Amino acid sequence: MRKRGGSASGHAADPERVPVDTESRNESSGPEPAAVASDLEPWFAGNARDLPWRRRRTGYRVLVSESMLQQTQVSRVADRFPRFVGRFPTIQDLASSPIDDVLQEWEGLGYYRRARLLHAAAGAIVERHGGRVPSDAAKLRALPGVGPYTAGAVASLAFGRREAIVDGNVGRVLIRLAGKEASIDDPKALRWCWSRSRELVEAAADPAVLNEGLMELGATICTPRSPSCGSCPVAGHCKARRLAIQDRIPVAKRRPSRRQVVHHVLVLPPKRRGTRMLATVQRRAPNGLWASMWEFPTVETDRPLQARTFSRRLGLAAGDLRRMESFSHATTHREVRFVVFEAISQRSPTFEREVSLIEVERLGELAMSVPQRRIADAWAARWATDVQPSSRWPED
Ligand code: SF4
Repeated sequence: MRKRGGSASGHAADPERVPVDTESRNESSGPEPAAVASDLEPWFAGNARDLPWRRRRTGYRVLVSESMLQQTQVSRVADRFPRFVGRFPTIQDLASSPIDDVLQEWEGLGYYRRARLLHAAAGAIVERHGGRVPSDAAKLRALPGVGPYTAGAVASLAFGRREAIVDGNVGRVLIRLAGKEASIDDPKALRWCWSRSRELVEAAADPAVLNEGLMELGATICTPRSPSCGSCPVAGHCKARRLAIQDRIPVAKRRPSRRQVVHHVLVLPPKRRGTRMLATVQRRAPNGLWASMWEFPTVETDRPLQARTFSRRLGLAAGDLRRMESFSHATTHREVRFVVFEAISQRSPTFEREVSLIEVERLGELAMSVPQRRIADAWAARWATDVQPSSRWPED
């Protein structure tokens, strides 16, 4: 049996631990932290899902997994994490790899800014900390892309530091336990969550187990809709359950609607150079959505363009293009409509951005967004079966 204040994971106890003042607690502070911690920690120890990043905890692995898990489903990260750390086994490997390789390995996880920031953080760790992920939350927070949540997660999960964490899952659990009619998006409620989370981690036997227990509870039991209170290890402390308000707190904030944009994509048949077949692609701008990733030549607008308008922007006539397909892809902030056209004449388009020719076999190595990869796969499949491109396609 573990003792309170000890460490199940062998992590050193934090010498500056501050005792919680239980005398000054009031109803709105939520239940007694030690009571919650003593029910939550054994539950997590016995019920934790077997996830790849939990099998071995290092600062690097926690940093990678927490970066991947932001706004991404656990199942998808579980699929991709082993491959990522297999390709970049150490922080040095990640820091010294070209960003294009990192983006390519990130493909499908979305929200690619995280990959850039992770790569930048790896560089900073090599430069400032000799390649060792710092255990100190303040030093972690000074790294690119590392906010209070990730710093707290790395410091506590990898190094056993008594650091708090608050993300959407944790905030929801804390607000429900205290029965607060608040939104996690409200800055005052968020501050309250951080202070509440600090109280809990101070009262924990093991900060890593407590923090992961909170995350796990929010992810698997205390879910946004229809929480499974009957299976909850801390149900006895939960004010929301007592008041039967768990389904309506935290109060949902209306999300701003996604911005609508249209990507008009032009696919050109392969160019032939001797025995080589080349695809025409271009890089996106270095900022914004899918920054610096590769795509087929694309014109982005707020509204759909008529085929003749799109062709005019390419210096072509309407008859030079054929509409192939259209589909939508949602990102966190945008609803992107893809309209794909194929060039069907010998006329050469004029592109608004520089294009590159890449060997068809190397298309898979380029970092592309999910929808552009879908277009690329369809394009490659089509030309793989049509080994001899039609003679109407010009040679360069
Ligand atoms: S009792 Fe229900 S609402 Fe309260 S923490 Fe547990 S799952 Fe969440």
